[in-house]
Amino acid sequence: MTDIIIIGGGISGLLTARELAVAGAAVTLLERRAVGREASWAGGGILSPLYPWQAPEPITALCRCSQAVYPAFTGALFEATGIDPEWTQSGLLIGDCPNIDQAEAWCDRHGVRHARPGRQDIGELEPGLAITAEQLIYLPDIAQVRNPRLLAALRADLGNRRVRILEDHEAIDLKIAGERLQSVGTNRGTFTAGQCVIAAGAWSGLLGRQLMPELTISPVKGQMILFAAAPGLLKHIVLSQGRYLIPRRDGRILVGSTVEYTDFDKSITQDARDALRHFAVTVVPGLKRHDIERQWAGLRPASPNGVPFIGRHATFDNLFFNCGHFRNGFAMAPASARLIADLMLGRAPIVAPEPYGLKALH
Ligand SMILES: Cc1cc2nc3c(=O)[nH]c(=O)nc-3n(C[C@H](O)[C@H](O)[C@H](O)COP(=O)(O)OP(=O)(O)OC[C@H]3O[C@@H](n4cnc5c(N)ncnc54)[C@H](O)[C@@H]3O)c2cc1C
Repeated sequence: MTDIIIIGGGISGLLTARELAVAGAAVTLLERRAVGREASWAGGGILSPLYPWQAPEPITALCRCSQAVYPAFTGALFEATGIDPEWTQSGLLIGDCPNIDQAEAWCDRHGVRHARPGRQDIGELEPGLAITAEQLIYLPDIAQVRNPRLLAALRADLGNRRVRILEDHEAIDLKIAGERLQSVGTNRGTFTAGQCVIAAGAWSGLLGRQLMPELTISPVKGQMILFAAAPGLLKHIVLSQGRYLIPRRDGRILVGSTVEYTDFDKSITQDARDALRHFAVTVVPGLKRHDIERQWAGLRPASPNGVPFIGRHATFDNLFFNCGHFRNGFAMAPASARLIADLMLGRAPIVAPEPYGLKALH
């Protein structure tokens, strides 16, 4: 028997595994397909909600704690594995910002640096940008990670820490005896553990629905395109009217994303490709010269208001959950993993846990 079973190998499950392994637990991670290939691979890696002042306070709390640890955490992963997660403080430029006064007041309250660049400043910050200075706000400290690389580094690090990762193992049912979870049934046999964490992303609700009908998580599709651009064309993350461009260190530029309620369908569409390309070349005309290298879609695990479910089952007290991070799974990941580990190990929680419980208003 292993101490702890984690179901799901996205950023939530991998980081939970790491947090628990660091604390000395014997961890087995069950992944239905391959680790780090679903929403966590498909996302953009921006380490902040797009419009942070619109996020509910429990999201802000997890983001702020996570932002504080990301540089050291990604640095340690790079050192341990040789894989660079490319944590980069690109800064975020938001054009057509709704409620800019509210945005500035929020930044002041939370100690987030901000500026309102004029036309000349934009020219200096981002010469290739074709958005006006109207309603523009700049948050210089917002950072990004290259999420596929962070996932690869995490996986390698878990291997070094002797976490058992079992791919092609789909958790199918959770078996209860009395008031405890007894075992997890999979397509490849049954696993028993002292404690179990559901971190199965958009699929968490399906898995937990017998025991946790309140775990209301639904899939929300997001499509992205990737331009094979050259370094220097864009330096900052740029957001306008809900869409964004993310420049990677090698010059590639991601453009996202759609928000589609199409159940578990992950197909990509020409309409989305055209709309994202139109947005991209309008904001950065220089992109017209570059090809789209790739298009993909992922399923965000959406809780009703974006606040994740992190906590312990009220009756089956060895059953835990860390899921439903919707659009901000990377922005909240380190603090979410720390919180669930705190609750499992009886440590003082990093943030007040109540807003994330099953009975909280999500
Ligand atoms: C287009 C797009 C852009 C995004 N951009 C950002 C961004 O810029 N910043 C940000 O912070 N967030 C972003 N997100 C959101 C972020 O990607 C997610 O919130 C996060 O990846 C969720 O991680 P997860 O581990 O909970 O889920 P996932 O990464 O989906 O992982 C869940 C895992 O569980 C496995 N699984 C499911 N069911 C079972 C089962 N029964 N048994 C075993 N394994 C199972 C799945 O195969 C999967 O590997 C974006 C998402 C998308 C789609």
